[in-house]
Amino acid sequence: MSAPEPAKPTHNEVIKTAIPTLAGNIAATMADPAADRFSEDDQQFIKFHGIYQQDDRDLRKTGKKYMMMIRGRIPGGVMTSAQWITFDNLATQYGNNTLRLTTRQSIQFHGVLLSGLGALIKKINESLLSTLAACGDVNRNITASPTPAHTRARELVYTDSVRLAEALAPQTKAYHSIWIDGVQLKLDDPAHKDFVDPLYGRTYLPRKFKAGLVIPPVNDMDIFTNDLGFIAIVEGDQLLGYNLAVGGGMGRSHGNVQTFPRLADVIGFLPPEKVIEVAKAVLTIHRDFGDRTNRKHARLKYVLEERGTDWMRDEVNRRTGFALGPVRPYEFTTTGDLYGWHRAVDGSLFLTLFVETGRIKDVPGHTQKTALRQVAEQFPHIEFRLSANQNVILANVPERDRAGITALLAGHGVKVDNQASILHAAAMACPSLPTCGLGLAESERMLPGLIDRIEKLGGEIGLGGEEIIIRSTGCPNGCARPYMAEIAFVGKAPGRYQLWFGGNASGTRLNRVFKDTIKEADVEAELRPVLTRWKNERQPGERFGDFAARVLWPEQAAAATPQPTAN
Ligand code: SF4
Repeated sequence: MSAPEPAKPTHNEVIKTAIPTLAGNIAATMADPAADRFSEDDQQFIKFHGIYQQDDRDLRKTGKKYMMMIRGRIPGGVMTSAQWITFDNLATQYGNNTLRLTTRQSIQFHGVLLSGLGALIKKINESLLSTLAACGDVNRNITASPTPAHTRARELVYTDSVRLAEALAPQTKAYHSIWIDGVQLKLDDPAHKDFVDPLYGRTYLPRKFKAGLVIPPVNDMDIFTNDLGFIAIVEGDQLLGYNLAVGGGMGRSHGNVQTFPRLADVIGFLPPEKVIEVAKAVLTIHRDFGDRTNRKHARLKYVLEERGTDWMRDEVNRRTGFALGPVRPYEFTTTGDLYGWHRAVDGSLFLTLFVETGRIKDVPGHTQKTALRQVAEQFPHIEFRLSANQNVILANVPERDRAGITALLAGHGVKVDNQASILHAAAMACPSLPTCGLGLAESERMLPGLIDRIEKLGGEIGLGGEEIIIRSTGCPNGCARPYMAEIAFVGKAPGRYQLWFGGNASGTRLNRVFKDTIKEADVEAELRPVLTRWKNERQPGERFGDFAARVLWPEQAAAATPQPTAN
């Protein structure tokens, strides 16, 4: 019997090899005044440039309206006031007049037509930010703890995030040629066809790669969901180094138990000066060992799951030429943001503003987009920081500006105290419909109303005022990190969701499927028995996620729902 044929590389691998500058035919499409979309292959290339081609799914019955989603690359989520004004202008001029904060400290523009794409990306670059590698099979936006309340070492951690973003950026000149210079690389030019990226080679990574830095005890980066995580070990204001976390990731597919969310393993300790070397070692392990034949099995987490943490540690040590030290003690207590005004460690003030589902917009009585723009214009010395919980932090605020900013925001219906109810304040949703092509069910448009209903239900049961971390996504890819939530709704079909229970407040435990499919209309009926049981059987102070993890699994096992992960 002959040996089975080796699996073939995916089409994405074939096209990356053919055009390693990632230029595709993007420039030709941009030069065509009649074009309204990119070709199939170019839809893969544009991701590396920070662009997804989408269409308005609300309009599909009458025909496809193509539009682009553009994601910024904003290391650590830090922006100047001037950059904020630029992004605000671009959203108004070319997008749908909203700024969508992502769960990776970035901003997405939605609804941009091809005709506005070139100007939008050029202006982002002129503001000294970029979109290069915000999507695609490369290292994405590096996240870093934004809150200045706990230690001056945050500045060092942020600086490391910027250094990492530079060190892990692809070196192709095509991005600059297309979007800044407006010229077209000739496909047969040796500089084009023979290009080899010094870090990524000709084929980049098998799949996306996410990295972040976090400062315990606040796990506001959900660090274990990253391919690569650096957990800062801080004494007072001194950064001693980082524990290295490797192999996390959220994405899975319905009905495919070979795909699963996974928490990163913490495999060693490194001094701060080794951050870039270690990051490159982990990234190139993904490059060299990731599965290039199946994009659903291509994330680094599967390499780690199959080869183990000892192998990973040895491979990192071999590539860097030094040995990771033993993991240093650390503890996480929360993943949440500190809402409202607070004092920073340097004596300045910061203000964390709640942004419902990450969408900054103007609606009657709550003109948050205009309010933030005016803050940027009138207080140009302050810094805008994006949180990985889809909120915005105004930082480096002198005491003298506090009252003025509070009054300005109040004039637009934006509160600084009691900004949202406890369930809304802890919730996150991915965009899904109508923009995301992968959405199977509503998410961003659905979750606020659903939370209102759950709050009403909690009040009826006698659970008012209890925080529960609730997240929703329109599909199992997990952009809003649903598998870390205490209650998650993961879209399966219009109006139908998979129901997950059991994440925790510190972001250190995955949740599990409680019911494979529920109807959105039945949420009260589905939740009432289990919330009632939590109220009656909980241990003192026990959160819902902890209760679910302690008590519910036997029933779940009996229900024989396939479990993609165990933790
Ligand atoms: Fe789209 Fe799925 Fe991500 Fe939601 S989780 S934004 S539906 S890919």
